[in-house]
Amino acid sequence: MSGPGEFELIREYFASRIQAGEPGSGAARSVELGIGDDCALLNPPAGKMLATSVDTLVADVHFPADADPYKIASRALRVNLSDLAAMNATPLWFTLALTLPENSAEWLEPFARGLADTARQHGITLVGGDTTKGPLSITIQVTGTCERPLRRDGAGAGDHIFVSGPLGAATAALPIVTGKEPVSNEQRQQADAAYYFPEPQFEIAHLIGDYASAALDISDGLLGDLGHICEASDLGAELTTEQVPVAALVETMLRKQGEEDMPTRALETALTGGDDYQLCFTVPEQHLQAVFDTGAAHGLPITAIGRMTAEKGIRLLRSGSPWQPEHTGYRHF
Ligand code: ADP
Ligand code: MG
Repeated sequence: MSGPGEFELIREYFASRIQAGEPGSGAARSVELGIGDDCALLNPPAGKMLATSVDTLVADVHFPADADPYKIASRALRVNLSDLAAMNATPLWFTLALTLPENSAEWLEPFARGLADTARQHGITLVGGDTTKGPLSITIQVTGTCERPLRRDGAGAGDHIFVSGPLGAATAALPIVTGKEPVSNEQRQQADAAYYFPEPQFEIAHLIGDYASAALDISDGLLGDLGHICEASDLGAELTTEQVPVAALVETMLRKQGEEDMPTRALETALTGGDDYQLCFTVPEQHLQAVFDTGAAHGLPITAIGRMTAEKGIRLLRSGSPWQPEHTGYRHF
């Protein structure tokens, strides 16, 4: 977009609202100059690495175009924050490149509110961006500090594989958030929470940061994403499928659809469904007890689901026998 409309839009919705974190916070002090000049000027904390990541969300690919803009903003920032969490980084700044079909206050007002609320909750500050006209698309780049990074290439053979919480909820939520499946208010709230308000797992990442050998956030499905740890670490994995935690919404939806082999379809959804943004991390044997103790002390819903192996590929055990998913959860829903 060009002309005065663009500048007013930026001032009205972004510059004035999404300010430098809580006054006095690290994020606030690190911003020398925020939105409004050619560049933002930032003070990286001395002696710390910066972690940075960018993700684009395209309308009708990554979210329904007609969804509530407040929720779209929440999801767009949260999926980016999740990458910082998965690296065990602490959020500082973000930029926003927004492509909009039209300059509509009706859309921008709730979008900016969703962005501001999410940013405040996670202590991250909007420091710049770009605004253009075109099909709706949202690109967010997040930057944070990182002292003890959790990379994908650090797993060792024999390390225990964990997930940070139940899987499959966002996949089960899809037919609800796209309006294909009529549900109760309570189920709609669960679906919204899973799909639009995924929780970046900062707390768990910080708590296991000293013990884990590798980690990532599960954006494309456990099997695919664990495959990235395997590849980067030059290893394979063996999972005990009974241990894989399945989100309650998956079973609710399968039951609603009259699914006959519920346990199998639920497991397939948990293994292959994306968008949950739980962490998958590996823990060497010598730190296993410390991780269980930390989990218990903080009430973390972490679960051990298998081991890394020298043999390549991912093998699944069900009732002690080798097993393969027939369907992916994504296709099922
Ligand atoms: P330039 O032409 O120098 O790139 P712009 O006109 O694109 O400048 O932007 C002016 C200022 O507003 C810059 O500081 C830029 O970072 C900021 N800005 C533009 N769009 C956004 C946005 N969607 N969110 C946050 N800041 C933005
Ligand atoms: Mg620009």
